[in-house]
Amino acid sequence: MDKQLELLKQMTDCNAPSGFELPMTNLMQNLFDDLNIESIRDNTGSIFGVRKANSKHSLLLLGHLDEIGFMVTEITKQGFIKFTNLGYWSPIVMTSQKVTIHTRDRDIRGVIGGKPPHVLSADDRNKVNMDNMFIDIGTTSYEETVASGIRIGDCITPYSEFEVMENPNFLLAKAFDNRFGCALAYEVLRDVKNPKISLFSGAVTQEETMSRGAKTAANLVNPSLAIALDVCFDALTPGMENEGNAKMGSGPVIILSDAWNIGHVSLRQYIVDVAEREGIKVQFDHLTGGYTDAGHVAQSNTGVPAVTIAVPTRYIHSNVSMMHREDYQAAVDLVTAVVEGLCDGVVEKIINQTYGFGSK
Ligand SMILES: [Zn+2]
Repeated sequence: MDKQLELLKQMTDCNAPSGFELPMTNLMQNLFDDLNIESIRDNTGSIFGVRKANSKHSLLLLGHLDEIGFMVTEITKQGFIKFTNLGYWSPIVMTSQKVTIHTRDRDIRGVIGGKPPHVLSADDRNKVNMDNMFIDIGTTSYEETVASGIRIGDCITPYSEFEVMENPNFLLAKAFDNRFGCALAYEVLRDVKNPKISLFSGAVTQEETMSRGAKTAANLVNPSLAIALDVCFDALTPGMENEGNAKMGSGPVIILSDAWNIGHVSLRQYIVDVAEREGIKVQFDHLTGGYTDAGHVAQSNTGVPAVTIAVPTRYIHSNVSMMHREDYQAAVDLVTAVVEGLCDGVVEKIINQTYGFGSK
């Protein structure tokens, strides 16, 4: 496995659901420390590496540290675990999936149990409900489960390990949403040459639970511009043909709009110009349902021009997800070139929305 695959494996195998991001905060901190790069955190655990420039303006580049998961709410007499969700899960992708329960001292494997299909009535098969689900760790009583160290409030993550697929461009792992963004923020911070504006590059907490970390991080950094990194759908997946225009393997995606943000028009035009200049193929999409961290940053302070750059990802918000390595690499190249091209003058044109309208 080469260094980039090792990085993506390290990021996606890390277990850190919303509200429990500390393992990811620490992982990012260690990576920044290894590069001898200064870093800052807010009080929720959002963390950014800092490359200071002698400039008036700054760019915030943000992925999110958290992944979707669960939390223990009850241990039954028979030793089964009842749970609530952290972030958005559809019950149809949950049953029979392996999970890891993180106690104070150790990790314990479990499986989200359910009835075998043989005994499900036709009606039951259509009625999958998280409230009826339970996690089985292979114990027989309340006492035995408690003796394992599991307590009410422990967090739970999906279990599946990073793998390279048949075509080595296809990567399978849990939590590409949004550990690809964390990896990308790190690679750009490491590789960017002579930034002419200050760069704050890292990732925030609790995106999957209404984008809370983006608010506190925006207060901390007070950026001039922001680029959020997140996943979008893949229209090549069977059944997804009408759910957007982005296709896996066809490059990074500029999000025109989502539920909480309209991509800032001048920042978007600047990104498109950089992509054209660098010969990087980009796609465009709009998210009718979801949101990204761009929305809260855009509404912080007196307003921050913000755009989301996405990578098409299959099977998001389940135990596994799939990403195309060339899309990831092209996103790294694009964002690196975007950062290198920014100076105070360009930032001011973007803020004033004169960039892209006859006055590049
Ligand atoms: Zn997500």
